[in-house]
Amino acid sequence: MKNHEFISPLKLKPTVKTALEEKLVYAGKGVKSVEIIPEENSRPLIRFSCDEFSDEESIQIEMEKMIRGFSRGFLEVEKEILFDQRERQVPGKTDVYDEMISRGWVHEYETGRVSLDDKAADLYNFFDAEFVKIADGYGARPIQFPTLISMETLRKADYFASFPHHITLATHLIEDAEKITEFSKRYSDEGDMDLSEVTEKTEHVCSPAVCFHLYQALEGEKLDGVVRRTAIGPCFRYESSNMKTLERLWDFHMREIIFVGPSSEVDELRKTAMKPVMELVDRIGMKSHIETASDPFFVNNYSGQTFYQLSHKTKYELRLHLPFREDHSLAAASFNWHQTFFGNRFSISAGGEESGTACVAFGVERWVYAFLVQFGMDPAYWPQYVLDNIPR
Ligand SMILES: [Zn+2]
Repeated sequence: MKNHEFISPLKLKPTVKTALEEKLVYAGKGVKSVEIIPEENSRPLIRFSCDEFSDEESIQIEMEKMIRGFSRGFLEVEKEILFDQRERQVPGKTDVYDEMISRGWVHEYETGRVSLDDKAADLYNFFDAEFVKIADGYGARPIQFPTLISMETLRKADYFASFPHHITLATHLIEDAEKITEFSKRYSDEGDMDLSEVTEKTEHVCSPAVCFHLYQALEGEKLDGVVRRTAIGPCFRYESSNMKTLERLWDFHMREIIFVGPSSEVDELRKTAMKPVMELVDRIGMKSHIETASDPFFVNNYSGQTFYQLSHKTKYELRLHLPFREDHSLAAASFNWHQTFFGNRFSISAGGEESGTACVAFGVERWVYAFLVQFGMDPAYWPQYVLDNIPR
């Protein structure tokens, strides 16, 4: 491991620091961590660590480019806070992740991929059942989607312009007996091979979200009212060295409640959904708040889109706090309104106009983790509502 530091080419506003730290780990291969050290009235110091084989000079050049791209036109928007339960007291003060592993509640395959077992699996089912109750309240019918999604669908959804760094490619072997035999031989032994020789050009990726599947399924339709569906599915977002604990997984589960229909109506639906979600949070007594939010766009797209999302309130985020670190919280649910963007891209109309879309999304593993951090590993101290409703 090597360390390297340089002075940022620009001064940075405090609000961009965290977001930028997350982005800079994508600057080059082998970057392990990035820290932005503020200097009063001056340009901050950027410190990063990387593998021995990494070329820190070219990583620095790439980071400088990213900082310039990121800061260009960055406009500050005051965040709006709703349903403020930041002052709520919870018993948990420490991180429980290591204990979850030692008790066998989490099995870690490698960074970003885990299984939940024992009480953590029970909590996973408890939370998902609660989300389904909220979906029921909206008359959202269950629907089941595949794990893979086509590149074509994501292209239509404009995913690659905003989140190229997240994607996980999925492909299969070429229908060629000789190559399949060669592959079989090498991998049955200890060996491996250049897979580009034996795989098809990638046309699919592991789905990074749940709701795109519904927009594709409704492509070309003319809707009368609002289509309401709920689904849970695995989601894949590769987050490089940002992946840790259950806070950020490569491969996780998302429950969504999805509304497709007249744009202002679906906007209203996802806004009203904040109430039952906060009622759930209050029944459990979790330290949390909801705020206006923006998506983690890739650098070139960042400033404009973030500004747009924050100023138009197209995204609200429920943040569950992790009290072992000051001011540390985790986005556990989001309430998103895409206006008519997907309606336009997928030619869906509602009431004779371009359809709107909105979704409420829950990152299930994050709820489990935040709950255990806030209430600890001993069920004797868990809130009664959880004990009464947790499946056995
Ligand atoms: Zn969605």
